[in-house]
Amino acid sequence: MINALTIDVEDWYHICGLGKRLSLDKWQGYESRVKKATKEILNILAERDIKATFFILGYIAKRYPELVKEIDAAGHEIATHGFWHNLIYQQDEEAFRKDLRESIDILEGITGKKVFGHRAASFSITNESLWALDVLSNEGIKYDCSIFPIIHPRYGIAGAERFPYQIKPGLIEFPPSTVKFLGRNLSISGGVFFRVLPYSFIKNSITRINKAGKPAQIYIHPWEIDPAQPRLNMPFDRKIPHYINIKHTAGKLKRLLDDFEFSSIRKVLKIE
Ligand SMILES: [Zn+2]
Repeated sequence: MINALTIDVEDWYHICGLGKRLSLDKWQGYESRVKKATKEILNILAERDIKATFFILGYIAKRYPELVKEIDAAGHEIATHGFWHNLIYQQDEEAFRKDLRESIDILEGITGKKVFGHRAASFSITNESLWALDVLSNEGIKYDCSIFPIIHPRYGIAGAERFPYQIKPGLIEFPPSTVKFLGRNLSISGGVFFRVLPYSFIKNSITRINKAGKPAQIYIHPWEIDPAQPRLNMPFDRKIPHYINIKHTAGKLKRLLDDFEFSSIRKVLKIE
């Protein structure tokens, strides 16, 4: 069974939901660390000859087109993570369409290849923003990875499908992986969940998913393998989960890549 490996390419300060604390004007003043951390991920993948899907922020692609070229030249799939990393449920349809189009145009302009996949900033397709699926479909997107089937304070649709399914004509939804645990869906696929859960639990969960004949989907951010990144001041309940176990993420990822087969979403979903 081939599982899907996805990387959300954004900088360490692209954190949603912090309001003025992290407004756009502050971005310019921060040191960019995304190139170095992304190249580290590229090296980890190259050593194992593994291809992945890179959901790249338009903002990053515009500043560092050579990084997009390098990812593409290494044989990975280039997909979009939107342009400004804005939460979809805080936008209207037109603003989202514009942001999406801008990101697709810049990525396609750099690689000369069509963009098929999308992941919303912070999984922000929820019950309040399901209209975004029609926008994605109309803009030529073939698959989306934004609907997390979990209960979470800022995202998720509890009870949504856990495995790839057709959500609209011509549009497949491939959710990040979860397992049933104590009657609820528990994420094992990335972020704080991936960093905190014991490796053996994650390994057993993916084995269970694969035994049921389904592919798993894992997601990682370049900043999650960058222990030296500056620490932003944010509320306690955000800060702990954001930075916990960052120094162990790269090691955990390598173990996972050695234990399972991975490829891009396009390969897993057989999108031509
Ligand atoms: Zn993101």
